[in-house]
Amino acid sequence: MGKMRHVSQTLNFAVKMSGWICNTKKDKKRSCNKFILAIDQMISLDSLFRLKQNDDLFKRRCKWVNGPLIVGAGPSGLAVAACLREHGVPFVVVERADCVASLWQRRTYDRLKLHLPKQFCQLPKCPFPGEFPQYPTRRQFVEYLERYARRFGIAPRFNESVERARYDETCGMWRVRASAGEGAAAEEYMCQWLVVATGENAERALPEIVGMAEFAGDVAHAADYTSGEGYAGKEVLVVGCGNSGMEVCLDLCHHGAHPTMVVRDSVHVLPREILGKSTLYICLECICFIVLVEPYEEL
Ligand SMILES: Cc1cc2nc3c(=O)[nH]c(=O)nc-3n(C[C@H](O)[C@H](O)[C@H](O)COP(=O)(O)OP(=O)(O)OC[C@H]3O[C@@H](n4cnc5c(N)ncnc54)[C@H](O)[C@@H]3O)c2cc1C
Repeated sequence: MGKMRHVSQTLNFAVKMSGWICNTKKDKKRSCNKFILAIDQMISLDSLFRLKQNDDLFKRRCKWVNGPLIVGAGPSGLAVAACLREHGVPFVVVERADCVASLWQRRTYDRLKLHLPKQFCQLPKCPFPGEFPQYPTRRQFVEYLERYARRFGIAPRFNESVERARYDETCGMWRVRASAGEGAAAEEYMCQWLVVATGENAERALPEIVGMAEFAGDVAHAADYTSGEGYAGKEVLVVGCGNSGMEVCLDLCHHGAHPTMVVRDSVHVLPREILGKSTLYICLECICFIVLVEPYEEL
């Protein structure tokens, strides 16, 4: 609408201008066309100058993405890509690691199984294989995700880490800068849609603990813990008691270590199952019940 108004205003102005300097009808039409062309060129040149002044778009390698750019090839990024594929929408996935589901492949411990029953963790359009157990192992989950990526023809651009993304008002596009590591030239993607699927556990959260720098023993984040093998006979302090803290403690016990857990607040412990039913499933059922019941209570 804005563009249409702009064109018709230009046309009126051009007709007025050409009317002043042209005598015949043919002359008038020809000079009117020339005038419109000149104005159009001025407008596009002006946009180009603004782009050039804005920053260094022309200095970097710039790639136009025909469709959305998805950042992250974890389960969320893969799910979005698969749904787009099903609808015939082209996309590009960039992933800073060298594999899909890097959290599960590189930064989880060996004994990990899905904490939730498989029906709550499967991705759209492709359930877990029937032979998988109710709580698939980490290896099975990774296998499933790799198969999922192959099935939907998802080929992420690995080893590219997005450093910056900003919406450029001038060209109405997202400009996303990705680096391929030290020494490699940064890429700039231009896309109309940006999907950020970088996960909530992708970065290590390591609090500053007073005296940690002077501590003579080893300090490891759960993301770097694979198994309790090297800890046999050792006293280990586990900080925090979420799913990871609890499971690391159990694993340490199984490997002959002596763990102690510190927790800064009260602890809520829920069994994984109640009377053979998943606790999550029971909670979800209760929520549905509350949602259904609430309007009647209000009346
Ligand atoms: C120990 C543990 C157990 C868990 N158990 C369960 C469970 O049983 N069930 C469940 O549903 N969930 C579980 N989770 C939660 C987990 O977050 C999800 O399973 C899932 O991995 C989330 O997927 P995601 O794609 O959103 O994020 P992620 O799996 O974190 O994937 C994000 C991806 O984005 C990439 N990335 C990040 N930043 C950039 C960047 N700047 N540029 C390019 N790429 C980038 C990362 O490398 C990563 O591959 C668990 C998590 C942990 C840590």
